[in-house]
Amino acid sequence: MHPRGVSRRSLLKGGAALVVLHASRILSPLVAATSGAKPRVAVVGAGAFGGWTALHLLRRGARVVLLDAWGPGNSRASSGGETRVIRATYGPDRIYVEMVARSLRLWRDSERRFGRPLFRKTGVIWMAGRDDRYEKAALPLLRALGLPVEEVGATEAAVLYPQVNFEGVSWVLHEKEAGYLLARRACQAVLERFQAEGGEYRLAAATPGTVDRGRMGPLRLSDGTALAADRYVFACGPWLGKIFPDIIGDRIRPTRQEVFFFGTPPGDPTFTEDRLPVWIDNGARIFYGIPGSDWRGFKVADDTHGPEFDPTAGERVPTSKGLRAARDYLAFRFPGLKDAPLLEARVCQYENSPDSRFIIDRHPQARNSFFAGGGSGHGFKHGPAVGERVADLVLGTGRPDPFFALSRFPS
Ligand SMILES: Cc1cc2nc3c(=O)[nH]c(=O)nc-3n(C[C@H](O)[C@H](O)[C@H](O)COP(=O)(O)OP(=O)(O)OC[C@H]3O[C@@H](n4cnc5c(N)ncnc54)[C@H](O)[C@@H]3O)c2cc1C
Repeated sequence: MHPRGVSRRSLLKGGAALVVLHASRILSPLVAATSGAKPRVAVVGAGAFGGWTALHLLRRGARVVLLDAWGPGNSRASSGGETRVIRATYGPDRIYVEMVARSLRLWRDSERRFGRPLFRKTGVIWMAGRDDRYEKAALPLLRALGLPVEEVGATEAAVLYPQVNFEGVSWVLHEKEAGYLLARRACQAVLERFQAEGGEYRLAAATPGTVDRGRMGPLRLSDGTALAADRYVFACGPWLGKIFPDIIGDRIRPTRQEVFFFGTPPGDPTFTEDRLPVWIDNGARIFYGIPGSDWRGFKVADDTHGPEFDPTAGERVPTSKGLRAARDYLAFRFPGLKDAPLLEARVCQYENSPDSRFIIDRHPQARNSFFAGGGSGHGFKHGPAVGERVADLVLGTGRPDPFFALSRFPS
């Protein structure tokens, strides 16, 4: 979820087959994009970032093969699980607000185009704490971009949402067009669309090729074959640092995050999305939740970064300490659920960059390779807009944005 991350800190500071192409065909990304040549692109990772990147590349005329070690939105992936919040409140960071506005449009268009539900417009309520600079900074940006938003006093909020205890909340920012996305199902829908439009998908784990004279060579795949393409995109979520230890390394640090789903009373809509929007409690410790959450129960999660986590080998059993903290929080903020039974729990991981900003850039030593990652607990919603940015980079129609570039980190 990661509602604040760097935003708050900055506020406080102020069908590709196995084909080896002749190198001369790959003049430069821009030449290929403008000369009418159809570049072959291999995208590694079919999560929110890689899936959308592959789809955008395909629609712009590239021949694309998408690879994933375990499948789109799998249970190890950061895009796994049922639901993800989509909201545009990002403190003073206009770039994210614009990207959410763009993504929201693409999620909704895609829902119609795919003929499948991807998004639930429930609205999102932000409970501002004593320090409300983050929400205050967001308001003008939301309004400037035409995203409907309402400021609700705590007393009025208590009348509108009597099932919430607003103690310690100074006011509520209501994003009316926001809501939640059906996470793993959306990843699968994007993949199905990609294949229906002519993209090739393969279940395989990929190892980057050797870099020689500024270019990456063929990927090595888990089935022992090699896959050559003109360009490569690595959208490997929490695995990106391990795959590129020298270039990314611990600039992406996976942390263990627990999510709990509690049972609501039978036939009672009080704690479902009929009566309660998605909520984010932006107090000293950030909790957030999705009422109903695709009928899994009342979803509650603590946004605080957990310990480091291995996304491949890590066991995904929630801790009793985490459950206790979620129950205590629930009893305080949603007293009607104080004795609610736990229905399900998940252990996922954030793939955190040092400043919580994404990493969208070209490989510094291989001009035909690109990275998309560092979702840092808030990336899912941005999948469609991230995919457009990466497709622009790969096809030479865009440049790395310094906000997301690797050069922002000391080398
Ligand atoms: C508990 C939790 C709650 C969150 N809440 C929100 C939220 O409310 N809103 C929001 O916007 N975001 C949220 N996020 C963040 C968001 O889900 C992630 O930032 C986003 O899904 C990352 O997508 P990705 O494509 O970069 O990574 P992933 O989804 O992890 O995709 C990477 C893919 O690459 C594959 N892969 C890795 N290595 C290889 C390899 N060598 N070869 C082949 N395939 C490989 C993996 O199998 C995986 O499918 C949350 C995250 C978590 C964990």
